[in-house]
Amino acid sequence: MSKWEDNVRKVVPYVPGEQPRQKDMIKLNTNENPYPPSGEAAKVLQAFDEDTLRLYPDPTAAELVNAIADVYQVSPKQVFVGVGSDDVLAMSFMTFFNSEKPILFPDITYSFYDVWAEEFRIPYERVMLDEEFKIVPEQYFSENHQNGGIVFPNPNAPTGVELPLDAIEAILQHNPDVAVIVDEAYVDFGAVSALPLLKKYENLLVVQTTSKSRSLAGMRIGYAIGNEKMIRYLNDVKYSFNSYTMNQLTIAMGAAVFRDTAYFEETVAKVVETREWAKKEFTRLGFSFGDSKANFVFVTHKSVPAKQIFQALREQHIYVRYFDKPRTDRYLRITIGTREQMQILFDFLEEYLGKDSLG
Ligand code: PMP
Repeated sequence: MSKWEDNVRKVVPYVPGEQPRQKDMIKLNTNENPYPPSGEAAKVLQAFDEDTLRLYPDPTAAELVNAIADVYQVSPKQVFVGVGSDDVLAMSFMTFFNSEKPILFPDITYSFYDVWAEEFRIPYERVMLDEEFKIVPEQYFSENHQNGGIVFPNPNAPTGVELPLDAIEAILQHNPDVAVIVDEAYVDFGAVSALPLLKKYENLLVVQTTSKSRSLAGMRIGYAIGNEKMIRYLNDVKYSFNSYTMNQLTIAMGAAVFRDTAYFEETVAKVVETREWAKKEFTRLGFSFGDSKANFVFVTHKSVPAKQIFQALREQHIYVRYFDKPRTDRYLRITIGTREQMQILFDFLEEYLGKDSLG
């Protein structure tokens, strides 16, 4: 290694799920929505005047921020937007996790958390989920585990398991001196949001995304809702980094999508309905899983190893996610697609697993 490389900020990057570009594939590996975004987005695109691209976008992304504030009935001063919730979470780590004490997150969780912690030199500790992959709230209480902040997804990823609101409130009650970030990327598919707790706890930040329930993963819009003071701190860090993270088209199209609440409710209901049907099919085929409230299920088969099923599916151009790590290597995370896509998956699994391994 050359001498100058001693001064490089070395990081082991997060590895996102594969993005194959085949036409005939069934893509159930990165928790995207199988339905297209609201038609309101296309209308904005058609009416868009490209001459405006000469100008910088609105650094406050006010149109988008206002549309989000309207949906959640909060002040625009309580809303922060970023380039996907990955950007929002990265900014939040940088802003709120600035202590010598370790931040806490579950041992099985979104695998970007430890990457950001390493990158920003934030000490961290992983707190074990119980045998059923549930978060144990008491393990996050400051008197039991001194910490410099807390972050967890709800529902958790990749398990899909929900932490009830009273447990989240208990974690907040026992951690008044640090920021508590609830990553609600999947909350719209049937879990209860922590947003009502914002009135009582000024150290709570709720992070959501348009990538899943609003079918805009390709557009990159995430947002945080919190106390005005928290949002101010976040914006101070963002403006010290890059003022213009949100481009004009994204601001306009994103705002239009938020205004179309009817379509949002319709597509979410379809995904939830397919998920509940899929749970029965997985059980019938000999799989078990935690009770997912997300747009994916985390399943393990009673006799056939997950890795083997993963590879067999891949050969059929059916992509799912496999995490080859100690406590998760017996599981597959399978995104809920359309009913037709799921039927193709189940038809194949039924044949592949054979009669012997059916449940
Ligand atoms: N949080 C969790 C728990 C996720 O699974 C994801 C998706 N990879 C994200 C945040 C980030 O999603 P996005 O940047 O598309 O909003």
